[in-house]
Amino acid sequence: MDKVKLVNDMVKMFGAEKVLQSELERYTYTYDSSFASQQNEYYPDVVVRLESTSDVSKLMKYAWDNNVPVTPRGAGSGQTGGSVAMTGGIVLDLSGWKDIVEIDDANMQVVVRPGIVHAELNAALSPYGLFFPPDPGSSAMATVGGMVSNNASGLRAVKYGATFQYVLGVEVVLPNGDVMKTGGLKSKALKSVSGIDLTRIYCGAEGTLGVITEIRLKLLPKPQSRGIMLALFEKLEDSALTVLDVFKAGIIPSGIEILDDGGIRCANMFKPDLNIPEVEAAIFFEINGTKPAVEEEGAQVKAIAEKRAKSVEWATDADRMAKLWQGRAVIGAASARFKEGKTRIFAGEDVCFPISKVPEALKRIKAISKEFDIPVVIYGHIGDGNMHTAPIMDPLIPDEVTRTHKVAEAIHRLALEIGGSTTGEHGVGFARAAYMEEEHGKALDVMWAIKKAIDPKNIMNPGKIWKLGRE
Ligand SMILES: Cc1cc2nc3c(=O)[nH]c(=O)nc-3n(C[C@H](O)[C@H](O)[C@H](O)COP(=O)(O)OP(=O)(O)OC[C@H]3O[C@@H](n4cnc5c(N)ncnc54)[C@H](O)[C@@H]3O)c2cc1C
Repeated sequence: MDKVKLVNDMVKMFGAEKVLQSELERYTYTYDSSFASQQNEYYPDVVVRLESTSDVSKLMKYAWDNNVPVTPRGAGSGQTGGSVAMTGGIVLDLSGWKDIVEIDDANMQVVVRPGIVHAELNAALSPYGLFFPPDPGSSAMATVGGMVSNNASGLRAVKYGATFQYVLGVEVVLPNGDVMKTGGLKSKALKSVSGIDLTRIYCGAEGTLGVITEIRLKLLPKPQSRGIMLALFEKLEDSALTVLDVFKAGIIPSGIEILDDGGIRCANMFKPDLNIPEVEAAIFFEINGTKPAVEEEGAQVKAIAEKRAKSVEWATDADRMAKLWQGRAVIGAASARFKEGKTRIFAGEDVCFPISKVPEALKRIKAISKEFDIPVVIYGHIGDGNMHTAPIMDPLIPDEVTRTHKVAEAIHRLALEIGGSTTGEHGVGFARAAYMEEEHGKALDVMWAIKKAIDPKNIMNPGKIWKLGRE
């Protein structure tokens, strides 16, 4: 469609203040937090910022009638290029639509608009003694609409799971502009098996099946108390065996995080006063719940860890906990400073391994790093096998870029080879579309059949999950 007409129509329909059309403004929508998006320049023809279901419906009807691609966008903190417009058209920015429609504390649920940021939502829920448990590291940025669409999770997924476990229903504007509500039109129920679970289909759909305009979330009571343990292991294998022993004892910590030797070195370089001994693995356990339960489980986990660890420290005092946790808290930023003149990029960064195979996987990632001569810092959620592998490189040196792509490719392939997944958190976007066939086989065709039934013109976020050109 003619681009000038598209922009003019958007201005006529929604007003100039809701439409971004200059090259500079559109440039800021050509990337998210992924390395893949920074390697390309996918410009939208126009950006429209909307804050009502009726406006979104109007926009989708127009896009449907004129075959214009639409890419929904939250905060753009995604790490797979999910919110960039690969084939131009409209980027629909929902980040300004932040309303909390209703906090229904008696029924332990909340209804929100898609642009509310995770941390803002939990701050608003806190006075009610409730919280929305999935906890991405991007809590201060990620919108709940983006979290549902990417089925986000975080370091407490080991106990609380991922976003889909909390989504009770969504309002969706379908590709043709119709509006649908899943999970029951008037439902306040905390569970329902009434019909095919359409809510679930939208968790992880990455904007390919419509625009989410409202979300009903289940909440949990906020835990009263927590404790942190830091256990240091001279052998990587011992750290993984300890995690398995904790589970076998019937304990589910709220977080189990690992730093490998490179991660420990990084944390120490970034903050020398941390001074974590340079062993093969540091494991951080977080235990939460009632005060007596935290004390009892903490003592049990400490006794289990002491069987294999070089040292174990358990703390429930707020200052000491903050000090112990720093090693984990700084790692995202610390890895970026691992080597002078280099940076950390997001590629191959959230593979998920079977937990029994984490030690093997970590050793093989180190070998991959050596083979291509690109340092890779490893940290992440050993409790569910979801590892963050951070390549350290200089994006301005083409040869390093090529070798980094090879590292990311080898890490993704490793995950598939040993029975894991190419993504435990961040989703597919276009960065991982090439692996979907191998990961899913026939199931990818069935996903496509669902996509075609809902979006037969393929105007919703083309190029994501399925490679461009699939028809
Ligand atoms: C420092 C950092 C740490 C991170 N840590 C984590 C982590 O611990 N766990 C984790 O899971 N992720 C993490 N992420 C990735 C990212 O924050 C999540 O994927 C998040 O859910 C994306 O939210 P967003 O609002 O930024 O969505 P965007 O990036 O804007 O969009 C993500 C996808 O959702 C679609 N979408 C957005 N809104 C809608 C809507 N209303 N309707 C339909 N589709 C929509 C987009 O089209 C796109 O496909 C991290 C990112 C950064 C930068």
